[in-house]
Amino acid sequence: MSENKKITIAHGDGVGPEIMAETLKILEAAGARLEYDEIKVGEELYLSGHATGIDDAAWASMRETGVLLKGPITTPFGGGYKSLNVTIRKTLGLFANVRPAVAYHPFVQTNFPSMDIVIVRENEEDLYAGIEHRQTANTYQCLKLLTRPGSERICRFAFEYAKANNRKKVTCMIKDNIMKFADGMFYEIFQEIAKDYPDIEADRMIVDIGAARVGARPLDYDVIVTPNLYGDIISDIAAEVTGSVGLGGSSNIGIDFGMFEAIHGSAPDIAGQGIANPSGLILGAVQMLVHIGQGDIAETVHNAWLKTLEDGIHTGDIYRDDISKKRVGTTEFGDAVVANLGEKPSQFKAVSYPTEESKRISISDATLSTSSKELIGVDIFINSIDLNGAQLGDKISALGLPLDIVSVASRGVMVYPNAQPEKYATDHYVVRFEGENVSSHDVVKLQSLILDADLDIIKTENLYNFDGERAYSKAQGQG
Ligand code: NAD
Repeated sequence: MSENKKITIAHGDGVGPEIMAETLKILEAAGARLEYDEIKVGEELYLSGHATGIDDAAWASMRETGVLLKGPITTPFGGGYKSLNVTIRKTLGLFANVRPAVAYHPFVQTNFPSMDIVIVRENEEDLYAGIEHRQTANTYQCLKLLTRPGSERICRFAFEYAKANNRKKVTCMIKDNIMKFADGMFYEIFQEIAKDYPDIEADRMIVDIGAARVGARPLDYDVIVTPNLYGDIISDIAAEVTGSVGLGGSSNIGIDFGMFEAIHGSAPDIAGQGIANPSGLILGAVQMLVHIGQGDIAETVHNAWLKTLEDGIHTGDIYRDDISKKRVGTTEFGDAVVANLGEKPSQFKAVSYPTEESKRISISDATLSTSSKELIGVDIFINSIDLNGAQLGDKISALGLPLDIVSVASRGVMVYPNAQPEKYATDHYVVRFEGENVSSHDVVKLQSLILDADLDIIKTENLYNFDGERAYSKAQGQG
């Protein structure tokens, strides 16, 4: 028998302490070979002046143990507070968020009795980088950043996960008909990686119809891999379709660290009432046990949990008069799982897990690629109230600048030189310049001349060709 493994525990906010108490009670009764290092994170820390909700002692504990079992955390609104979850995922490089969504028919009401899908969500990038700016009185920006190494890692992980778990298909969900560069790159990498897994079907869905079908036809899916924001939305839809968001457990996996939690939040509306369903965190803990090589305990806990559902012992979120036997609170549910340890479900298929840690999916650190890059112009973002886009275009083209003005666009639509007659209520324009043999100094000179003409520059974005190909979008209406 292996030695005890030390893990870090954060009880969390809202219903966190209630569901964590039941989870730890079950782990102990099941004989999990664990020692705990408890840290304080979340609301208490935010309110004591830590804008990130976490302090140095907590980081030190996580770095020492490499494993965090975490209750949900409340992110206070406003006040510059940053989401603790996002901070932990990004700081520790937890690039993959794995969220299984499984139906428990006939014991939990769902329209799709055989639903069994897994959402593999990219966890560090996308709009969740949280890079936001107010640029003018009327315009706000949130940057969506996807990287090649980040996309490679998550797509590789999704196929490795499918292979290790005997799954047959991986569906990539993106919006590359609109975001041709960012989402287009994600899908291109998905296709490249899919070639290494000829036995696994590789499929693609545009995320809008793809997400709708997770709600309406979830049996079409097996494993879904997708960038961060889409993954967040799709996994909540999937969890609700299985019966309750309270049933979903999730793992956040990196090269050196793992964080395990329920997919739901701190549920402040029911906190302190003793009625929360602890299942999400229990199943998060099951994923943790598999991760640290205690598959034997994971199996015992998961099977006891399935048996409890089968026994009709249900918390309020999944209780139905026609299928449940007993409506219980959080503690009673935990007690029932403890009483069932060692039992197997008779109607659900009993689970079994590998016991060796080496069965963990291993993904090597992705490398940065290089490409030849040629500067061919610049987009200069201008805040203008007195002049509209066409007037701005006329004024700037009369300045005799070192680069040619190509267009003025407002919210991605060209308004100069060939504008449609419709008017747009905006104070935010992008003036595009291109030229031959452009240097960074030309770009700086250009800005200086524009400032001399009393125009208000709010940002610039260089335009490049990579490996000889244009690497920026054109405005709608630009030829
Ligand atoms: P939520 O998931 O907390 O609650 C949504 C709904 O589901 C509520 O009606 C709630 O009562 C119900 N619910 C959630 N968990 C349940 C459970 N275990 N049993 C029974 N019912 C349950 O989402 P929210 O209200 O949008 O967020 C509340 C807070 O949680 C916010 O501060 C948010 O930032 C945070 N949050 C944290 C995490 C995390 O720590 N991983 C995830 C999501 C949201």
